[in-house]
Amino acid sequence: MKKTETPYISTTNACKLCKPLGACVAFRGIEGAIPFLHGSQGCATYMRRYIISHFREPMDIASSSLGEKQAVYGGEANLKQGLLNVMNKYNPRMIGVATTCLTETIGDDVPGIMRNFRKEAVACSGEGLPHLVEVSTPSYSGTHMEGFHSAVRSVVDQLVRNREPWDGVSLFPGFVSPADVRHLKEILHDFGLPAVVLPDISESLDGPALEDYEKIPAGGTPLNQIENMGGSRASLELGRTLQGWESAGALLERKFGVKRHLLGLPVGLRETDRFFALLEEITGKETPRSHALERGRLIDAYVDAHKYLFGKRAVIFGEEDLVVGLTAFLAEVGIQPLLCATGGKSGQLEKAVTAVTSDILEDAPAVKEGVDFHEMEEEIQTLSPDILVGHSKGYQLAKRFKIPLVRVGFPIHDRFGGQRILHLGYRGAQVLLDEMVNQFLERKQAGSSIGYGYL
Ligand code: SF4
Repeated sequence: MKKTETPYISTTNACKLCKPLGACVAFRGIEGAIPFLHGSQGCATYMRRYIISHFREPMDIASSSLGEKQAVYGGEANLKQGLLNVMNKYNPRMIGVATTCLTETIGDDVPGIMRNFRKEAVACSGEGLPHLVEVSTPSYSGTHMEGFHSAVRSVVDQLVRNREPWDGVSLFPGFVSPADVRHLKEILHDFGLPAVVLPDISESLDGPALEDYEKIPAGGTPLNQIENMGGSRASLELGRTLQGWESAGALLERKFGVKRHLLGLPVGLRETDRFFALLEEITGKETPRSHALERGRLIDAYVDAHKYLFGKRAVIFGEEDLVVGLTAFLAEVGIQPLLCATGGKSGQLEKAVTAVTSDILEDAPAVKEGVDFHEMEEEIQTLSPDILVGHSKGYQLAKRFKIPLVRVGFPIHDRFGGQRILHLGYRGAQVLLDEMVNQFLERKQAGSSIGYGYL
């Protein structure tokens, strides 16, 4: 290779997922909505497989089903026909259209097609249409998390209409688990603070067993509440790495003057303290006793766990804001984070990690954005961590290096109950702490020739 040539760049086992996949999850968190991919069928099949095996719920994703002909001549006709089919089959209240690599590459003007579709469909049927929201999600330029946030931003941009003041807040929780969303709603309820949670996957991606199959599952953020978000007294947006990007909360502030509070995901004690302090400020109320008790029990557990965790060394990987929260949590329980790695490229990760650890860590962890599992493997060879913390795609690394993997976030494909993992709040920190300590105890016990019964 000549010196002037750019080296060949490839990705081996990406530490991120497809961008429109995140958009589909966000759309599933809206009442009566059906996600729709403008692209080929394989995209929808891949995403359905990923989402179903994590959440263990049915996940219908419609597709405009493009083939070779449309790849050459454009997918307008397929998109319009697909929307009509979905309206007839599902009778949805909203269709969330996300683009894919193919339709972004051939340059389909999706907003223009949707405008034409609205005019033609109304003129033809004379009836009202479901809400139609479109989002641009070329997967070669981002991660599933960016697709998720872009979809939420598009919903705010295209559906919020009213600025009539009401007494509650808008909460943008980010791509967290259904259990996390349920817990956030419980906390706000206990503060007596009304809230629109967008999106709300607490039921639509973790629902009860039903006698009859529902084409569109119950739950999700009510559309009339979304329309009124412009009158919220404030917005709470979770995710430190959203700084510097016009996210849903930032857009709500610019268009409707709703004050935006950008916080870290409340993972661990101190990030959760910041979340509760803001709720105290907004409501003028003290933290409810049940949550104060959970906080106290968590500190007690931190003390008990210290002898097992202090001095251990961890590598954390996955979605950026979860990596930030987990790093804050590990640092405060005495585990040294060695490497914080993500496939995302927000440019905000290092700053966010520093913000949550600089006051308690003497040695800052290495922070790597835009990495794949191949690069992580090279790093781990020299770092020799005691534990990995991240999603299931890190299993091969854990196996190769013979160290435990604490499974968090998305996707969890090789364990049961990924949708019920609680990461947030004092209660979530307690779950993470117990899991962490038990991983080390199990390892110690398994490696002992005596087989201690007490550890
Ligand atoms: S990465 Fe692109 S081509 Fe692959 S599933 Fe996602 S949108 Fe489709």
